[in-house]
Amino acid sequence: MLKIDSHTHILPKKLPNWSEKFGYGDFIYLQHHKKGFAKMMRGNQFFREIKENCWNPELRVDEYQQYHTQVQVVCTIPVMFAYWAKPLDGLDVSRYLNDHIAQLAEDYPKQYVGLGTLPMQDTELAVKELQRCKKIGLRGIQIGSNINNENLNEDRFFPIFEACEKLDLAVLVHPWEMMGEKHMQRYWLPWLVGMPAETSRAICSMIFGGVFERLPKLRVNFAHAGGSFLPTLGRIVHGFECRPDLVAIDNPVDPRQYLGKFWIDSVTHDPELLRYVMKMIGTNRITLGSDYPFPLGDLEIGKFIEEMDLDQEAKADIFHRAALEWLGMKKEELTNN
Ligand SMILES: [Zn+2]
Repeated sequence: MLKIDSHTHILPKKLPNWSEKFGYGDFIYLQHHKKGFAKMMRGNQFFREIKENCWNPELRVDEYQQYHTQVQVVCTIPVMFAYWAKPLDGLDVSRYLNDHIAQLAEDYPKQYVGLGTLPMQDTELAVKELQRCKKIGLRGIQIGSNINNENLNEDRFFPIFEACEKLDLAVLVHPWEMMGEKHMQRYWLPWLVGMPAETSRAICSMIFGGVFERLPKLRVNFAHAGGSFLPTLGRIVHGFECRPDLVAIDNPVDPRQYLGKFWIDSVTHDPELLRYVMKMIGTNRITLGSDYPFPLGDLEIGKFIEEMDLDQEAKADIFHRAALEWLGMKKEELTNN
């Protein structure tokens, strides 16, 4: 069965030293300090060590073979977003990363599907780069769950979503710059507590801000099964009903009406939670995802789904149909027959 991993990250092997080029800021660069490994440096600070499967396309295809997964939807690592940079510099970074991913998708059309990144700090530049993303063959974009701590319902982001809908480009919303990060450094809490909350923040903002209401054809996928949104939907709906004066101020529509309008990936690490979200939004809105190649991801690429007692239709939805619909692609584009 065709398997499309809708949530994976990749970097070019070499990154320019943008801090030097622009003369400010802690842009990420790579130090290839030993064979098969590189240090991601943020300014002069060590950020994380990555392995060759973060940049080597052949090695990645090999690693995916053992999990019978043929296609990887690739996007950059959120720490590369550079939304804090001067707009033109943010554009420069975006263009570099987007050109790399577009080339990869062109070189390996059956193995890689590319998502771009945008200088979200400047609406006009972001829309321009979005149009270029379309031209160079990317199928969508990845954006953060907040943009410099502004929520995705802010008016200045609307033209970007509108352009995505018009250009038929998919959107992946990825948690990053987690709320409360500064105050919960111990125990990896930004990743364990902040990330799921960030994704729920993004979904709630887009629902209550009326983005989905105004753009019914916009195709958005939320990473890590939508974070805490679906598990806490009862509370969110109750809040909508008991305090409409606080919640329903920009959009009077019940949040449950949007179930089935957006996608989530399968990264739950828990078959019972997957069953629950299947019931909530349907298998045709759940895309196989892994967060490869990072350790908190589902690095067996949906093996737990394979082992669940699901019928073939449900598996076909999760393994490829939902992703194809989200990306606006046909199966034939990724298979040889
Ligand atoms: Zn990720």
